[in-house]
Amino acid sequence: MTDCIFCKIVAGQIPCKKVYEDEELLAFHDIHPWAPVHVLIVPKAHIESHADLTDAHAQLAGRMMVLAPQLMKQLGVSGGFRTVINTGRDGGQEVMHLHMHVMGGPRPWSKG
Ligand code: AMP
Ligand code: ZN
Repeated sequence: MTDCIFCKIVAGQIPCKKVYEDEELLAFHDIHPWAPVHVLIVPKAHIESHADLTDAHAQLAGRMMVLAPQLMKQLGVSGGFRTVINTGRDGGQEVMHLHMHVMGGPRPWSKG
């Protein structure tokens, strides 16, 4: 996906503040954080949105879910966190490459 900003981040063409990487997932800090800690977990493969997941993605999707609390712990978040996946136009999705927002840290937060 040549025009996808998250594919460009995965490819190293756009820099990011990386917090985690393996063969199929990348996590990095959101550029406009809503909370003291705000990371995005993205699959390296271009999957447009949550609505495009199939049974074949079950393990990948599960790994995103399992990674979230591990990253919050790694980043020193101890008071709980919030996970959000915006899907499609009406879901408020702006970047059309599946991503899970994971937000934590002491309140108040700028959004949410
Ligand atoms: P969404 O509205 O769910 O599609 O969220 C897209 C998120 O991507 C927003 O929170 C943006 O701040 C974030 N974002 C956009 N570009 C970048 C970037 N280059 N690096 C990190 N985060 C980004
Ligand atoms: Zn992409």
